[in-house]
Amino acid sequence: MITWLEGKIVERKRWCDDLYSIKIKTEPLPFIAGQFVIVGLDHDNEKIQKPYSLVNAPADEFVEIHLNTVQGGKFSPLLTELDQGDTVYISNRPSGLLTLNEVPEEVHHLWFFATGTGIGPFISILNTEEPWQRFEKIIVCYSVKKVEEMAYREDFEALLKRYPNKFHFMPFITRESTPDAIQSRITTFLGSGELEKRLSIALTPESSHVMLCGNSAMIVEATALLQQKGLRLHNRREPGHISTEKYF
Ligand SMILES: Cc1cc2nc3c(=O)[nH]c(=O)nc-3n(C[C@H](O)[C@H](O)[C@H](O)COP(=O)(O)OP(=O)(O)OC[C@H]3O[C@@H](n4cnc5c(N)ncnc54)[C@H](O)[C@@H]3O)c2cc1C
Repeated sequence: MITWLEGKIVERKRWCDDLYSIKIKTEPLPFIAGQFVIVGLDHDNEKIQKPYSLVNAPADEFVEIHLNTVQGGKFSPLLTELDQGDTVYISNRPSGLLTLNEVPEEVHHLWFFATGTGIGPFISILNTEEPWQRFEKIIVCYSVKKVEEMAYREDFEALLKRYPNKFHFMPFITRESTPDAIQSRITTFLGSGELEKRLSIALTPESSHVMLCGNSAMIVEATALLQQKGLRLHNRREPGHISTEKYF
């Protein structure tokens, strides 16, 4: 049984057609960066709900989610239609294992692979101090279809300025050509060895942990490629090198 916190939308940002970030004010909600909550709405006299990752850092005084309107979807079209002042409900028990306390101590290089709105939990993690203190290198590979869908790009530019020797940002835009992104899929780049070559960083089980978030196709394909390199799926009983969260 979910216990709900009542929240009010305080900001709604539209990045482009069908892509939004929504800030919600609730009573304090402790969570670990990388976790998700259940978002609820009152609709036709019943509560409907779906999980969404938290984009904000735990210290922020609001909750932020980043989502797209899935055409024909049951929930996302209703949520993205709401505006400032409207009510939404947030589950008071965030969960999920895409968090740094799941990453083994000996890791030197932390890799994030995200498609679309799957970038959300990684922004939350990057806006805390822990990754910058723990890891020698942090690499974000972020893939979208079109230039306008690359949300939060300014946040990454700011991190590149702040941590020039530690942070690497690899934007992938699959369906458009632009000088400041790679026109390819993350998995194509990973499979060909071009990803490690461009970065001059080896992705090995000895040094790396990879977190993947977004659509299942990318996660399944990338996981298989990582396994060929000797990395293993992580779970608490058998620590490994790959942590995933599939959105659909
Ligand atoms: C742990 C977890 C965390 C999640 N966090 C986020 C998040 O932070 N942001 C986010 O946008 N979504 C997130 N999702 C997906 C989200 O919960 C919903 O499934 C999504 O918003 C679609 O809901 P819907 O009811 O509108 O569509 P549904 O009726 O559930 O789905 C309709 C169709 O759309 C497909 N679909 C589902 N999600 C997407 C998507 N994002 N893009 C394209 N097609 C999709 C489904 O496979 C299905 O075929 C998360 C899912 C999980 C399991």
